[in-house]
Amino acid sequence: MQPCLIQIGRLAPQLEAALASEFEIYPLWKENDAPAFIAAHAGRINGIVTSARAGADRALIEALPSLKLIANFGVGYDTVDVAAARERGVVVSNTPDVLNDCVADTAFALILDVTRSISAADRFVRRGEWKRGASFPLAVRVTGKNLGIVGLGRIGQAIARRSAGFGMPVRYHTRRPMAGMPWAHEPSLLELARWADILVVACAGGQGTRHLVSKEVLDALGPKGYIVNISRGTVIDEAAMVEALAARRIAGAGIDVFENEPHVPDALLELDNVVLLPHIGSGTHETRAAMGELVLANIRSFYSDGRLLTPVQY
Ligand code: NAP
Repeated sequence: MQPCLIQIGRLAPQLEAALASEFEIYPLWKENDAPAFIAAHAGRINGIVTSARAGADRALIEALPSLKLIANFGVGYDTVDVAAARERGVVVSNTPDVLNDCVADTAFALILDVTRSISAADRFVRRGEWKRGASFPLAVRVTGKNLGIVGLGRIGQAIARRSAGFGMPVRYHTRRPMAGMPWAHEPSLLELARWADILVVACAGGQGTRHLVSKEVLDALGPKGYIVNISRGTVIDEAAMVEALAARRIAGAGIDVFENEPHVPDALLELDNVVLLPHIGSGTHETRAAMGELVLANIRSFYSDGRLLTPVQY
């Protein structure tokens, strides 16, 4: 089969250049009338390259009768309709493992920032308050705090390993306990939230985890508890989180992902006990290059011998 792909949204410039030099690929985002383009070329297109932001929905998958492959830039594939892909026998690849360290580093950056008020202290200096003689309020010690992790997959484990350097006891919540882990499994998310000083969300996104972190979970975390989310915005009930933060029913939040990106609720912009990032968990030169290489390697492997290096198991 000769590769003939469409690229749904923008990707890193190096990856776009490599894709264009190796394959027949059409950047759909450049088309003024994407549906007309699809209708005109549908029979030939046998691959999609996409990302978490652009995804691939059922309507697109069903509009492409020759489609065989969806290559996703990113480990999370919640915006790819895998049910529609499975029905059609379309395989899906993602980019696991190569981003674990950077996403776990981001989780720790948020943990340290929100508990020690690093960004808030930076704003305090820039506003000239230090110069005018004001004192910055005391923050909260990180070392030794209880770290609860929701989701102990590849990224959750990398976060848990980092906790050793901060003397933090770790417990985790997943649907099934993981064999061979040194950390305690907590079958109840509410109990994990009650125990945790800091609750880090690192599970998969999608319908199965939508609003898993509910108002009740946030209340169990309590007024001294911090929430950190590097997973997907949909996992937390964002409206409930905003309310809990504004009312100080939780102490603070470090958030890399939002329910309706790039929209960030206005109320969060007003709060000094919240650290807001624009979905940059894996956003380093090194990791984005490694993710791009893995996208290319999957496409090459699929079109040369029909196998994916990192298939999504659905
Ligand atoms: P993974 O290895 O597949 O791990 C997913 C974890 O989620 C597993 O431990 C799984 O455990 C748990 N999980 C799934 N459904 C659950 C539920 N209903 N309740 C509790 N736990 C549940 O995935 P990963 O590679 O670590 O990546 C995790 C997620 O991070 C991705 O899906 C992606 O959305 C996000 N991510 C974000 C960024 C960023 O830039 N912020 C970058 C990369 C990835 P069980 O199946 O046993 O429940």
